[in-house]
Amino acid sequence: MTPSAHPSLYVAPSLEDALNALAERGADGAPLAGGTWIMRAPLRHEAKSPAFVGLGRVAGFGRIEVHDDHVIIGAGVTHARLAEALRDIPDLQGLAAAAGRSANPAVRRAATVGGNLCTAGFAAADLVPALLCLEAEVEIASRAGVQRLSLEAFLAARATLEPGRLLTQVHALRSSARSAHARLPLRKAGDYPVAILSMAVMRDDAGRVVRARVAVGSVEAVARRWPALEAALTGPPLDAASAERAATDLAGEFDGREGVDAPGWYRVAVLPALARRAVAALL
Ligand SMILES: Cc1cc2nc3c(=O)[nH]c(=O)nc-3n(C[C@H](O)[C@H](O)[C@H](O)COP(=O)(O)OP(=O)(O)OC[C@H]3O[C@@H](n4cnc5c(N)ncnc54)[C@H](O)[C@@H]3O)c2cc1C
Repeated sequence: MTPSAHPSLYVAPSLEDALNALAERGADGAPLAGGTWIMRAPLRHEAKSPAFVGLGRVAGFGRIEVHDDHVIIGAGVTHARLAEALRDIPDLQGLAAAAGRSANPAVRRAATVGGNLCTAGFAAADLVPALLCLEAEVEIASRAGVQRLSLEAFLAARATLEPGRLLTQVHALRSSARSAHARLPLRKAGDYPVAILSMAVMRDDAGRVVRARVAVGSVEAVARRWPALEAALTGPPLDAASAERAATDLAGEFDGREGVDAPGWYRVAVLPALARRAVAALL
């Protein structure tokens, strides 16, 4: 039996079982959530793990709790369920759009929040920039205990995390801000977006921006906040043309990644249009 042809699958009923199973399998084991990234390993010329630990039945992984000041999202929540749960919550429209417009309906019914955040090689993950704008934190469980860290810190450490750890849930802040998510898929809606720009903006009674959060995905290898554009947006009233101009002036801060779907310069070049679209959606 070749490892990549017939990997084994153990479906864990609990977090403890999943962690134990991963520890037993060591470097051979990998978590399996929706499988939408894992199943495409051959297309990326990557070897599949010989042993998967299925997370689909882990108790608590499917929870979504919406509180007044924060939301808790279990790692096993699918994009489709997340979009539906957040549909009528004004401050979470950016995240709802990220979940509801990613990929295509079949993928959205399978792909999970945990898989989206944990896939180190996936630059175009829609939920990451949307959650960065909500100052999200993630919980990472291992047999040694649970650690909570900012999504930014998790992204910085993600590629070097030891095996056997699981992302269990995400905490995102709620506020009076309004959020939006603009993405550019090149050929058809089901394709990975070549660039993503998420935005969350809080305004005063006069319409002036008192706080802006902007995050960019798919342009570089890992999504990140765009502090210079946040600063440029803060102070005056929100305006789509001004946002586009500011993004044009500042886009040179990004070093676009080369890919088969788009060259690096193109990913950077479309950012001003995405900034304009995000602001237009907020207005
Ligand atoms: C054709 C197609 C188009 C797509 N387009 C988009 C798109 O535009 N935008 C978008 O956001 N997504 C898109 N996706 C989905 C994308 O694959 C998923 O969003 C995500 O990256 C994988 O989620 P998953 O649950 O399927 O994870 P899996 O494929 O099961 O796992 C992915 C990786 O994460 C690890 N993992 C999973 N869960 C955990 C956990 N809880 N803790 C630790 N590690 C974990 C796995 O071991 C694996 O390494 C697309 C998928 C397809 C097939």
